[in-house]
This record gives sequence, structure tokens and C-alpha cells, in this order.
Amino acid sequence: MKVLLLGGTGEAREVARLLNQTHEVVSSLAGRVKDPKLPLGETRHGGFGGIDGLKQYLREHRIDALVDATHPFAATMTAHAVEAARETGVPLLLVRRPGWTAKPGDKWYWVDDLAEAATTLASLGTRAFLTTGRQGLKAFEHSNVWMLARFVEPPEPTPTWCELILARGPYSLQNELKLIDDHRIDVLVTKDSGGEMTSAKLQAARQLGIPVVVVRRPSVAQDVELVTEPAQVVRWLETRR
Ligand code: NAP
Repeated sequence: MKVLLLGGTGEAREVARLLNQTHEVVSSLAGRVKDPKLPLGETRHGGFGGIDGLKQYLREHRIDALVDATHPFAATMTAHAVEAARETGVPLLLVRRPGWTAKPGDKWYWVDDLAEAATTLASLGTRAFLTTGRQGLKAFEHSNVWMLARFVEPPEPTPTWCELILARGPYSLQNELKLIDDHRIDVLVTKDSGGEMTSAKLQAARQLGIPVVVVRRPSVAQDVELVTEPAQVVRWLETRR
């Protein structure tokens, strides 16, 4: 089958690997990162041009199935995938790793968005570690808190109101403990991204008794088929033959 795989995550790379021998897969990357980790097989880079552009791509390339394995916070891409699939009749499967759940000792404060995260963190600490990515960074600009922000690639323009660290996961517990200690961090801010690659910061915060502001995931349309594991994509495609 010809599969369009919306990617940019470790799960998407795993789906591409699993399907490599059995299906014709094109992995799609948004093109935001200059040096992305590439999946096995064919790739395309950059947006489609909204819902209409994606519909056109699906038709022109005679795509049999659309798999959305984008990041849980890539809400626009997912909304476009849902609509384009509905309008073209191309079957769609979402791959979403489970979100994180608090463990004993965690002091988590759930918020709906980055703006609420910015106001919440100011009541919890004075030196924050921001791990919410480049998009929406401006929401934190006027928080009256010293900030360290970690990115895969530097935001443009370079913010002058926070200290930057450039790094790419996976991160170890030892790394996160040292970073928190070196910068005297007393509050952490994260999206509920889920997964193992970036969860060591939560373990470090638990160990050190540091509060964590956790941004809830955007909701996904109720009637969309959804799996949590890359291997389930293989089984789903088998039922579509
Ligand atoms: P987004 O806000 O939902 O998408 C904005 C636009 O970017 C989409 O409308 C689409 O443009 C284009 N786009 C997004 N993902 C694409 C893909 N895989 N292939 C082709 N075009 C794509 O997305 P985002 O949050 O910026 O995420 C962009 C990419 O980074 C995704 O691939 C995602 O998996 C990855 N990522 C995101 C996060 C995060 O926290 N958001 C974290 C890690 C990785 P058109 O409308 O022109 O088609």
C-alpha cells in the first residue's frame, strides 16, 4: 500500500522502519529542524499548504492510507489530517504515545496552555526551567521569573530575556539533575509530551521535590482511529488490504 506518514517523532521513525520492506511509505517532515533525524525510506519536507494542499497531495500521489505520527502538540497538522482524510475518504490512523502520569512524590500543576503555564509558574518558583519548545515561547516573556530554556535549535530572533541551552534528547537523569543543580532551578515547565526520551527531567524534579507545571495535550477528534504503539500501525494496515 502507498502510505503517507506524517512524522517528526521517534514513533514515526519506528513506523517507517517497520513498514520499510512491506509498504511504499513517504515520511513527511515539517522542515523546521535544519538537521532532523531522518527516517528510513523516502521523505518529503515542508508543509502541504493547508487542508486543500494535503487533499491534493493525497489524490495526486494516490495515497491508500494516511498515518499521523506527529507530536501530540502538533495540533494544526493533526486537524488538517483529520479533515483531509474525511474529505478524500483516505483512511487515517493516529499514533499517539501515552501522556505522562504523576507518581508518588510528584508536585504537578496541570494547565491548559502556555499562557496559563506562564502565570502559574510565577507563583511556584523564582528560577524556571522551560522545556516547552520554540513555539509559543513569547508567552513566558513577561513572567517575573529567571528562566533557562532548552531547545533543539535556537529560536529566532534570539530571546534576550532567558538563558538558552541547545540540546537534543534523549536526556539522562544524571544530566537533568546536574542541569537543575547548576542553574539552581526551583520550578520546571513541560508539555505532556509523553515518552521516554524526555521524561528524565520529571524524575529529577520528583527526586529534588521541585514543582512541575504540565501543559495538557490538545484534544483530538473523537471519531478518529488511534493507537499508541508503532507496531499497531502494521496490524491496522493489514486490515485495510
Ligand atoms: P503544527 O503547528 O501542528 O503544524 C503547523 C503546520 O506545519 C501544518 O499546518 C503544516 O503546514 C506543517 N506541518 C506540521 N507537521 C508537518 C509534517 N509532519 N509534514 C508536513 N508539514 C507539517 O506542527 P508543529 O507543532 O509546528 O510541529 C511540526 C513538526 O515538529 C511535526 O512534524 C511534529 O511532529 C514535530 N514536533 C513538534 C513538537 C511540538 O511540541 N509541537 C515537538 C517535537 C516535534 P501546512 O498547513 O502548510 O500543511
